[in-house]
Amino acid sequence: DKARRQRLSHERYVEGQDEQHLRQLTLIRDLQEAVNKNELWMAYQPKVDTRTGRVCQFEALMRWRHPTLGFVPPDEFIGLAERSGNIAMLSHWMLGHVCQQIHLWKTQGHHLSVAINLSASDVTDPTLPQRLNKLFSHYNLTPDQLALEVTESDVMQDADAATETLLDLSWLGLKISVDDYGTGYSSLAQIKRLPVDELKIDKSFVLKLDTQEEDLTIVRSTIEMGHNLDLKIVAEGVENSASAELLSRLHCDYLQGYWIAKPMPADAVTSWLADFKPLLLSGSTTTNK
Ligand code: C2E
Ligand code: MG
Ligand code: MG
Ligand code: MG
Repeated sequence: DKARRQRLSHERYVEGQDEQHLRQLTLIRDLQEAVNKNELWMAYQPKVDTRTGRVCQFEALMRWRHPTLGFVPPDEFIGLAERSGNIAMLSHWMLGHVCQQIHLWKTQGHHLSVAINLSASDVTDPTLPQRLNKLFSHYNLTPDQLALEVTESDVMQDADAATETLLDLSWLGLKISVDDYGTGYSSLAQIKRLPVDELKIDKSFVLKLDTQEEDLTIVRSTIEMGHNLDLKIVAEGVENSASAELLSRLHCDYLQGYWIAKPMPADAVTSWLADFKPLLLSGSTTTNK
């Protein structure tokens, strides 16, 4: 009967909630050990310059394989780390790890630039610029080799403190990108008050760009407005050649997405680069042979 069915479905719901809760507690507990036990690594995904068709940068994305729960997506564990006070530890590990990797690539003859993702608490951490500066001299890196991605909502949480840190970082010569642009509530006017260099259009506007008229309109006007404000534009989530072509014709500066490459482990990067043929896009300035 109906009452019984309702009760059962409620029980299942509560059970599901308990399971979910238990998983979260487990993940939070084990986050602290994940670093020491080498369960974390970084995956690198290229961005391509539409004018040259060549790779201009890689984005570093954190990965975690939990010993019993298996692969845990960053969309799950980064949020948990933020809410449980563990994010500073993860960011700390990530910064050192990425700088060391860039250094390693340098010793192999590759001068690569890597963008990292910051959390809200990183952006307001006044010690971050100094820490980065130390890492730069320790690993002998130049400021063009590291860029930062921050989301507008993370920055706007405490805009004054964030502006101060971001100013210090841009004085160090780091480029700053607004990630997931279009998903927050801030205006470009607000964003322009921050020392940012680049807008990264959220993949939700890009994934179906080739078939959704509305997305195309949003992307086109974002590129126009951004350029008028002297910002570079990146599109994330480019999954097919039609979208890449459209973006290139709209003068989007950089492309990133599965169509170019999925995020890959660090040791796959140099061989992938060696095999990569510059993209032939209609906006390209070079003829690729
Ligand atoms: P994000 O920075 O916006 O990264 C873009 C996400 O889109 C990545 O997911 C990437 O793998 C995925 N992606 C790239 N190209 C495509 C595509 O063509 N199609 C589709 N469907 N997806 C694509 P991922 O690696 O799961 O990371 C999710 C989010 O987790 C990131 O979003 C970022 O906000 C956060 N994150 C990852 N690593 C770190 C980190 O080291 N620190 C912090 N604070 N956050 C991180
Ligand atoms: Mg990002
Ligand atoms: Mg994004
Ligand atoms: Mg995102």
